[in-house]
Amino acid sequence: MNYSLHNDPNLPLAWGPWFSHEYITYFAAQALERLMSLPNVPVLPNPRYGDKLWSTGPKHIDVYKENYHAHRQLDPLWSFDYRKRNGDFASEPPLGKTIEPWKVLVIYSTEPDLYLDCDLNLHKNQKITGGSHGWRHMQFKLPGMTFGIAPQSFRVHKDMAKLAFENGNDYWGWRNLSRSAHYLADLGHPFHVKALPGAFLMKKIFSRQDLFKIVSAMHQSYEIYTERRFREGFEPFKQALLRGAHEGQAAARDVQDHLQAYIKRAEKKHNPIFYYFLDQFGQDLLDAFGQMDPNSQLDAATQTNRCSADAARAIFKEANLSKFAFLDKITVEILTDVGRMLGALFSGFSSLRK
Ligand SMILES: [Zn+2]
Repeated sequence: MNYSLHNDPNLPLAWGPWFSHEYITYFAAQALERLMSLPNVPVLPNPRYGDKLWSTGPKHIDVYKENYHAHRQLDPLWSFDYRKRNGDFASEPPLGKTIEPWKVLVIYSTEPDLYLDCDLNLHKNQKITGGSHGWRHMQFKLPGMTFGIAPQSFRVHKDMAKLAFENGNDYWGWRNLSRSAHYLADLGHPFHVKALPGAFLMKKIFSRQDLFKIVSAMHQSYEIYTERRFREGFEPFKQALLRGAHEGQAAARDVQDHLQAYIKRAEKKHNPIFYYFLDQFGQDLLDAFGQMDPNSQLDAATQTNRCSADAARAIFKEANLSKFAFLDKITVEILTDVGRMLGALFSGFSSLRK
């Protein structure tokens, strides 16, 4: 039997509903036989190696999903907030429990989008990425300047994973690797490596407010579309990740050596997707994001999240169904590439474990 994440009997309902990063990690992991057959590891406390060098958001706590209590069943198609799950989780490591490494990779892959990177003062320019969260999850250029440090976020967590493994804490080895893979997947995402088309920026007809709204709307719309496809069990996305991860494993390459080319390929796909959403879904979509405000105290991700249900209704209208072929095709290319990188990253670490 060939399962998808949302109907895999090995995963408790309490952990759902599932989000894009979890689908991406799940399918990439499923392609790697060695990783999937590694024995369980004991759940341990966080050794907190990076604390002095890499601060975590003041609201962040490490929850332990190994200890769960299911108490509701949310509708996956209308869930947009990572914080709302079917279960509650422990805030202390449940001693005596063990878990499969591949499950650690999957269930903690959304963690960097919770509070881990929020409410920090990282850089004077972080406002342009919507706050400290965006700063650590993006990297793009605007004339003369680079914004965001996602490649560094990837490396720091990869190094913390290595350190945890070397010191016998395999559990946090996998958990840091899961975080690292999140940033790596973000770097394959066109909207994380490019802010907006250059020609668009030059059009002075837009106010700062309009520009912020349009850029946020196009980015979030693409997220909503991709996530919905995963939740529908869309086979081409699953196959793209499986295929990519297989290739990444076989090539046994060093992820770092291929990072720049990977980012470049994602960057090239930005304009086509940006203009496609703007031209095909246009005003309907912008209306859904009407409340976005660059001067709000809330960070951009929190604001866009509040518009997601309206945006999903605008995108997935009956009349729009014929518009998805283009997006499906370009997203298959993107996910194949992401799969390659995650496959290489995960198999590199798996091959060192016994
Ligand atoms: Zn992210």
